[in-house]
Parts: sequence; structure tokens; C-alpha cells
Amino acid sequence: MFRLAGTARVLSLLLTCGFLFQHFTLAQLPPVREAAVNSIESRRQELIQLSNQIWKLAETSLLEVESSRLLAAYAEKQGFKVERGLADLPTSFVASYGQGSPVIAVIGEFDALPGLSQKISTQKEPLEAGKAGHGCGHNLFGTASLGAAIAVKDLIAAGKLKGTIRFYGTPAEEAYEGKVYMLRAGLFRDVDLCLGWHPRDQTKADTQSSKALVSLRVEFRGLSAHASRDPWDGKSALDGLELFTHGVNMLREHVKPSVRMHYVIRKGGEAPNVVPDEAMVELWIRDSTMEGVQLVLEKVKKIATGAGLMADVEAKLTVFSGVYNMLPSQTGAAMLFDTMKSLGPITYTEEEQTFARGIQKSAGVPEIGINGRLQPLETPIPDPPGASSDLGDVSWNVPTLHISVTTAPEGVPWHSWPVVACGGMSIGHKGMLFASKTLALGMVQLFEDAKLREKVRAEFAETMKGRTYKPYILDGPPPNVTLPH
Ligand SMILES: [Zn+2]
Repeated sequence: MFRLAGTARVLSLLLTCGFLFQHFTLAQLPPVREAAVNSIESRRQELIQLSNQIWKLAETSLLEVESSRLLAAYAEKQGFKVERGLADLPTSFVASYGQGSPVIAVIGEFDALPGLSQKISTQKEPLEAGKAGHGCGHNLFGTASLGAAIAVKDLIAAGKLKGTIRFYGTPAEEAYEGKVYMLRAGLFRDVDLCLGWHPRDQTKADTQSSKALVSLRVEFRGLSAHASRDPWDGKSALDGLELFTHGVNMLREHVKPSVRMHYVIRKGGEAPNVVPDEAMVELWIRDSTMEGVQLVLEKVKKIATGAGLMADVEAKLTVFSGVYNMLPSQTGAAMLFDTMKSLGPITYTEEEQTFARGIQKSAGVPEIGINGRLQPLETPIPDPPGASSDLGDVSWNVPTLHISVTTAPEGVPWHSWPVVACGGMSIGHKGMLFASKTLALGMVQLFEDAKLREKVRAEFAETMKGRTYKPYILDGPPPNVTLPH
């Protein structure tokens, strides 16, 4: 015991020396902000361990039981009040500390993606074949955000900041839009401002929107019959489905370039000698705005009806979820840009650069290594390319500030094995700690500066003029987790 305690003391002394050295470049930071950075540095090893545990668990949407438990337990140990299993989502939780206003929230995700299990290697090599992996870096996402919340909590506890800090453990981002359920349950109602980040192959303060999305399924029902003996008695649900997808593919020529449509066939019959009586396709429609998505959706509904008529089968279209385009706070982005600048670029060792180039080589993209430099602040464009997130819905309800931080080398495909590999080693950890510090420092400024908060809220009020929000989820709890993802 004594030896251990002694070792811990030596370690903490060494760590302190490390901080002093690291903080040499941060000497210009005022003491409160320096304290926030110190909070994160003092938990560096714990945060890395936490993210590694979640990386190894690699639990998919709504099955992220252990990952959620680990983060919630850590928050509780740090003195947060934790409420679990909110909004019909067993793996959701909200950790809260402090009281009164302002109420500032930071978002954390922790779900993995199926089939992406990967070792820390520059080659595609599953850790466990067929298992899931953190191909979107959410092990880093949740941990960094919680680290930032804890740093702010330390300052509230020390009487240096006033108000409430909340960490939102938001499950099932990849498959079920967990945040939309949490919004519908009113869990964000009293939040003044919200912050988030996402792992990426670049470091930037986000000014661009994301795509709005609706997910729908079309179920076709016909009549089964022997495909050779009495096919005239059958009505093929698969014919209906094929006519539908053909119609969707013809529609591609007549939609705006900002539209994306992608589908998978979930059900298409069991055997060639049986006329399929059931078929199902799942289609996602995206555009820069929800209005754009709606326009395409109306056409897709007609295609489904037409396909059903042609194959003489029933066609039932159900929109089962959707997310809004992100409305990022420009005022917040400018503040977070300056914050990231003050932290300096993320730097990498030669060993990490070699790893990054190895990954790029295997992924077949230019071997330019990894770049942790801060990208210039971009002017928002109307139709940015990119993906969608349920954070978009949050941004329609609460002013949302967002950054992206490098956790994988430039050019590698996302939702893929290179992202998993980097997220379990020092490249990912560096991005995670940088994100954590940026979010903590950003929140400190927002807690301290009422005028800044007001400016962010005023911009939000202006953006929301003429816009109304209605969630695109079905009534009741989210879909059964046993459905294929
Ligand atoms: Zn993600």
C-alpha cells in the first residue's frame, strides 16, 4: 500500500512537471482557463483508458450497454448527478453538476459500427472477425466530451464559474437517432447552449451545415406460388420492389445535385422456385434542407404507388426516422477557432507519421501523413457535401457550437478500418485530448461571458426565424434492437 502510494506521488510529481512544460506554450492563458486544461491533463491516463475500453467493447447502436455504464460511472465518481435510461433509450444518460443558469450542455456519443473490427495495424486486420468497430471514433467522442464537462465541473466546484454543466450521453447516433428521442422527451428544454465535436481527418471550427435526411421503408406484399408450376397464381412482391428501385434510379437525373438517395434490400424472397410474397427496401433521402428532402419524398411516394400498381401488389411506404441539417453557430465557431489557435496545432511523432502513411498506403490514398494543423475558418456555403447527424435536430432546438478534430490521417475513408485503427492508439488519443481541452475552454468562456452567450442566442433566434421543428420519428419507443442495423 505504502509503496503504491509512494509511486503514485512520484508519478503525480512527474505529471506536474509535464504540465509545467506543456503549459509553457499556454502561458498566455488566464488562470481559470489554465485550470481547465490542467483538469484534463491530470486525468489524461484515465481518459485514455476509458476511450480504449469503449474502443475494445465496440458496442453498436442501442446495444452500447457497457460503454454507457463506463462513462456514466466515471461521471458519477467525479461528483455528477447521473440519470440513466432516459427517453425510452436504456443506454442514454444525462450527467449534471451545479445549479441555476446558464445551463451549458456537451454531447457525447459512444456507439460503434457493425463489421468494422480492426487491430491497431496499418493493414486491414480484424481484431475479431465479423465484430463491430469504432469506425466513426465515437469512443473518443464520448470520452473527450465527458473530460471537458469534468473540467468545467471542477471550476464550478471551486467557485470559479456559476451555473450548470451537463453531459448528454446520447446513444444510437449511427442507427436510431438517439438525440431526437431525447429532444422529444424534453431533455434539452432548459439548455441555453450546446457544444459538440466530431473525430475527423481535419481540425476545424465547424461553420458548414450537414445534410437533412429521412429514412423510409417500402414493404411490398404479393402472393406466393410455385415459380414454375403455377406462376400465374403468384404476385411477386420482389417485382414491385425492383420496379420501385428502378423508378428511384430514374429519378436521380431529375433531382438537384445536392440530393443523395441510397438503399438496401432487406427482404427479397427466400428461394427462386417460390414467387416472393414479401419484399422490403430501405431508402435514405438526403438534401441540404428538409424542404429539399420533402420534395424528393413526395416523388418517391408516387414511385412506390406506381410500382405496386405495375406488379399488382400492395406497397406500403413508412417514413421511420429523419434528422435535420445542422445549423452551426457562426459566433460559436469563431470563438472556438480562436480557442483552438491558442492551444497550438496537434503535433505527431515520426512514428505516428509512419503509421499514418502506412494506413494511407493500405487505403490507396496519397501518403501525405497526418496533419493536426487548424484549418482556416470557412464561409458557410448553401449546399455543403457530407453526412447527416442527429445533432442537427439539437441545433434546431438549442444554439449548437461544433468543432472537428483530427483523429485519423487525411484522405482515408470514414466509417472504415483505418479510423478504427487510429482511434485505439496515440493518434486518436491526441485528437481526443485536444477536443476535450477546446470544448472545456470554449465552455469556460461561455460561462464567464454573458454577452458572448447573448450573441450566440441572438444569432440562433435570427436563424430560426421562419423555421419550425417537428421530429421525424415514429410515436413510441425506438425500434426493437433486434432489427438488422
Ligand atoms: Zn460519427
